[in-house]
Amino acid sequence: MKSYDVAVIGGGLLGCFAARNLCRRKLHIALLEAREDVCTGISRANTAIIYPGYDHKPGTLKAELCVRANARFDALCRELDVSFSRCGSLRVSFGEKADAVLRKKYENGLLLGVPGLRLLSGEDAQRMEPSLAESISSALYAPTAGTVNPWELGIAACENAAANGAALFLSTRVLGIRRTEQGYQIETDRGHFSCRAVVNCAGLQADRVQELLFPSPVHIAPDAADYLILDKATGNKPSHIIQYEPEDGGKGFNAVPTVEGSLLLGPSERENETDFAVSAAGLSFVRERAGQVLPGLDLNDTIRSFAAVRPNPQRPDGSSIGSFVIEHPGLAFWSLIGIKTPGLTCADELGRYLADKLAAELGAEENPAFDPCRPGIRRARELPLSQRAALVRENPEYGEIVCHCEEVTKAEIRETIRRGAVSVDGVKRRVGAGMGRCQGSRCERTVMELLAEELGVPVTAVRKDGPGSEILEGGHGKN
Ligand SMILES: Cc1cc2nc3c(=O)[nH]c(=O)nc-3n(C[C@H](O)[C@H](O)[C@H](O)COP(=O)(O)OP(=O)(O)OC[C@H]3O[C@@H](n4cnc5c(N)ncnc54)[C@H](O)[C@@H]3O)c2cc1C
Repeated sequence: MKSYDVAVIGGGLLGCFAARNLCRRKLHIALLEAREDVCTGISRANTAIIYPGYDHKPGTLKAELCVRANARFDALCRELDVSFSRCGSLRVSFGEKADAVLRKKYENGLLLGVPGLRLLSGEDAQRMEPSLAESISSALYAPTAGTVNPWELGIAACENAAANGAALFLSTRVLGIRRTEQGYQIETDRGHFSCRAVVNCAGLQADRVQELLFPSPVHIAPDAADYLILDKATGNKPSHIIQYEPEDGGKGFNAVPTVEGSLLLGPSERENETDFAVSAAGLSFVRERAGQVLPGLDLNDTIRSFAAVRPNPQRPDGSSIGSFVIEHPGLAFWSLIGIKTPGLTCADELGRYLADKLAAELGAEENPAFDPCRPGIRRARELPLSQRAALVRENPEYGEIVCHCEEVTKAEIRETIRRGAVSVDGVKRRVGAGMGRCQGSRCERTVMELLAEELGVPVTAVRKDGPGSEILEGGHGKN
């Protein structure tokens, strides 16, 4: 039986950052992930916004962590060598009721100490962002809002945790947990683990994982959301994140200029739907909202649609819970249940929070050897020509472009595989090969050949996505 101080269950954003921050202490960490790769659950599909934090209730952990996380985001992304665009956001309204909501959010933001907030008239907002509809009545400008690639961030955190000694067990599903004298014994489909502490970050399954040993007072009720992505060459793209504040209190909408240069539009909201397949109705909603807020967009430039699933935390009576749910049902057992927005923004802060709590329970000292920095994959396209030429001399495969839309070379693709990519999507999540206008139709074959070569399997055994297994297993639906 393998023995660790802490077993982190779930390799999404929250589990990867929990593992990373636990490595700041003298603790042996195991990260157990059911799937073949990390960040393939909720963390693979979201709106990618790093929120400024103005809409959370003062005095709550969510508000505190979000405002702090936002302030630390540049430093975090420098440590992890991940792109971050602090492009600012404009939350826009089209009528008096929504204007009043924006005023409230502004005042709330001031109370929370969110820097730089400004309420703008419709005309001023349009001057700042000419792509906005003329009929906008007001806007709340938040210069500290930003956007990041969620996959890149989560994978970077996982790599950094591993470099600091955390052991990563992929394709390892937790099936049972029981108490022992030393702490806990975890049964998985790859054997048993003994540990002093458990951190449950199992995303859509977090309520069920807690129920393997303790009752969960919170139930996850998933619902689905749809998104569209417009090509980076599309015209009239906003330079800020645009958020729509509905006049009727209904569904909001975002337009996010991504760090890759494309434009993300969405989400829709489909209650009680749990499928990662997109819905026609959801996509129509997204198109309608986009047309209303950013009328100059050409939606024919859509290169992709996708769906996401939200883990809504509910009480036993079915009422929803607006705050972060952090359960502590037993000594050195912590569960993050139903962490939705702003879970991406707060992933590192939540990890630090859990690490501090557990360090106190386990009496763990600081780890002076902890190195917060992780070198990213060298990207030839980001280098000036002279440096690129030197790189090609060092390794000619930096001169062989495989993905022409995103300018990804053969050497970079090999590097993703050496760092853990096991599928075409795993490569895409690490360097963006296949994310551009042609969506992989020109490079997919070569990516598959490189995967086959590096993994030592026939091309026919290479998968487009991971195993496609069941993060929603057990009645929630299928992935
Ligand atoms: C539609 C949508 C939009 C969002 N937009 C934003 C945003 O713009 N900004 C923001 O800050 N936040 C946003 N969020 C929130 C953010 O995406 C989530 O909080 C975050 O991704 C949650 O990650 P996770 O680690 O909890 O879950 P996951 O990524 O799902 O990770 C859980 C992992 O646990 C594994 N697992 C499950 N059961 C087991 C088991 N028994 N054994 C081992 N492993 C197991 C799964 O395979 C999975 O990999 C959004 C969320 C959604 C759904």
